Parts: sequence; C-alpha cells; structure tokens
Amino acid sequence: MLRGTDQGDGADSARNVSLAPPLTVPPDGPEIEHQIRRLRALPRAELHVHLDGSLRPETLLELAKEKGKPLPAWDPETLRRAMRADDDADLTQYLARFETTLSVMQSAPALERITRELGEDHAAEGVRYVEIRYSPVLHTREGLTLEEAVDAPLRGLRAAEAATGIRGNLIICGIRTMDPVVSTELAELAVAFQGRGVVAFDLAGGEAGYPAEAHREAFQRARDANLAVTIHAGEAWGPSSIHQAIHRCGANRIGHGTRLQEDPALESWVRDFQVPLEICLTCNVQTRVAPTFGAHPLRRYFDQGIRLTLCTDNRLMSGVTLVDEYLRAAEHLGFTWEELTKVARMGFESAFLPWDEKGTLLAAFDAEVATLMA
Ligand SMILES: [Zn+2]
Repeated sequence: MLRGTDQGDGADSARNVSLAPPLTVPPDGPEIEHQIRRLRALPRAELHVHLDGSLRPETLLELAKEKGKPLPAWDPETLRRAMRADDDADLTQYLARFETTLSVMQSAPALERITRELGEDHAAEGVRYVEIRYSPVLHTREGLTLEEAVDAPLRGLRAAEAATGIRGNLIICGIRTMDPVVSTELAELAVAFQGRGVVAFDLAGGEAGYPAEAHREAFQRARDANLAVTIHAGEAWGPSSIHQAIHRCGANRIGHGTRLQEDPALESWVRDFQVPLEICLTCNVQTRVAPTFGAHPLRRYFDQGIRLTLCTDNRLMSGVTLVDEYLRAAEHLGFTWEELTKVARMGFESAFLPWDEKGTLLAAFDAEVATLMA
C-alpha cells in the first residue's frame, strides 16, 4: 500500500505546504536557475489532460457571468484558489468540482473557446503535442448533440494549431459510473471521428466499485475499428483494476497506474511489454493515492524501465502546468536533466499518432534537445 508509507524527504510531508504555491520560483543559485530555465524549454508531449478540468479561471468567470451560473468566487485569483483540490478527501470529492466547470461548457462557442485556449496555453509552455480528453455526453445538457460536442472542441484545437504550431488530438471518455450502454455509444462516436481528430477511447470517473470490465463492449467497438484505448486505472482502486484494463479491456496505455507496484508480476509485465503509464504527480497527491510527492512510485517505475510520461490531469483543479510536474519530479524525486529528457521523449513515443508523424515529432524533439544541451 502506498498510503501511510512515507518514503518522502520530509520537505513535502505537509501536503498543503508542498502543494502551494506551484513550483515556479527557483530555490536559489545560478546553477539551479540555469537548470530550471533549461527544463522550461524542454519540448514536451501532454497525453493526459481533461478539458473540463483545465479551464482558465478568467474564462470560467466570464462564461459563468454570461450564462448566470453559480461560482464559488467572483474574482479570478480567489476562484483559482477555490477550484484547486488541495483539501479533498478522495477521488470522489475531487471529481465533484467538475460540476462547476461543466455548467459553463454546454454550448459550442464555449467548448470551442476553452479548447482553443487550452491548446494555446500548452503551446506557450513548450508542449509540442497534446491529447485532450473529455466526455461529450457531459456537454449535452442544454441541447448540444454528441456530434456537435465533438465538432466544437475540434474547431478550437485546429484554431490553436493554426495560431501556435502545436499539434493536437482528442480522446473521448466513457464514464465508469454511467450505464455501460452510454460508453458503447461514446465509443461509437469516437470511431465516427477516427481520422478526423479523435485518436482514442478512454474510461474516466469514479474508479472504486465501477469496474472497467462492465464497459467491455465499448472497448471492443473501439478495438474492432483499430482505435487506440487508454483507461484510467490503479488510482482509486488497486492493481486488479490495471490488470482488468490491460488484459480484459485491451488498454494500450494506462491513465495513472499509480498502484501498479502492489502487484510485482503485473508490474514486470507492464515493463516487458512497454505499456505506457500516464503519470500525474500532483493529482495523485491531492487525491491521496500517494501520501507525498517523495513517496510517489514514479522514481521506482522509471528506474525499472517502465515506459511512462508526466501529465497534468487537470490544470485548474491541480493548479499546475506540465512544467510544474517536471519540476516536482526533479525536486522531490531527484530526477536529473538527462532523466527528464528521457521522460519527455517517452511522451512523444507513447502518443497515439501514426508512426511517420511520431517520427517527425521525435526528430524535432531530438534536434531541440541537442541544442539545449549544447
Ligand atoms: Zn485523468
């Protein structure tokens, strides 16, 4: 069990101290400043970020005013703090915050804007490729069709690509707590948009008590169409959830996989077959899957040769950028520049992209890293 096993370095033993503020200020010294500058410039891929968890606070505020929706605060800074999930007891409480963001994400213009801004924000932070995930069924409460709820984010993503040069795709999520029939419908929606900006099907939402296996038909639809599958697993539920995701539902990647270490045989399998883990450090500490940053198994998984990449999960609820996640791996888990370069490269390697496109992104990555190291 991870919980209660503090292997941390002491500096992050108090959760709230370790989480606030985000690590954006160099501790001290010119050498460290140089390292941080270089880390900020490292080209990255973001493979696990939720659209409804990653709004700009200013946009959330503006849309809520426009649509007359309630908010916990009415100035951007207080709202930013109110939306951060530092004090949540578990994943279920963490997920409750999404009702606020979803309330303003029920129209095509709002979805288009929020996706465009997310693409632009990533581009500004050195992300060269992003896979944005969300569940279209959660955006049909005020009359949008499922198709419109995919078209709008795609328009926003293409606008961000045109403006910044970033590349991006969408992942459509089924929800564990919903009827599996809905998941199958969403998998069919994902297949309908295959080749037009949707690259995978995922299963998200409350994990404990809602097995992925119940949604097997949805995964089968995706796999029958040669659409990639990633599944949130091993976060609020143990390694049997990861086992199920891989061996019964055909997951090509695992969202989180935090509790994989509790099953050494499965851990070896994940390493041997190089199933990528989408690791979200800050979110895992917030939802208490890992008691501290220092106790997170990221270091163990990396040292064993497991393929993994760092992701934010929810920029708004976690109050992080992808740069912050890399800095935290350096600060709390002793990751060196060379190691973080490998982590970043694995992000591109694990992308749901055709082989030739991936090769182009990897060649660009290698050239940029060579320049940074010169
Ligand atoms: Zn997630």
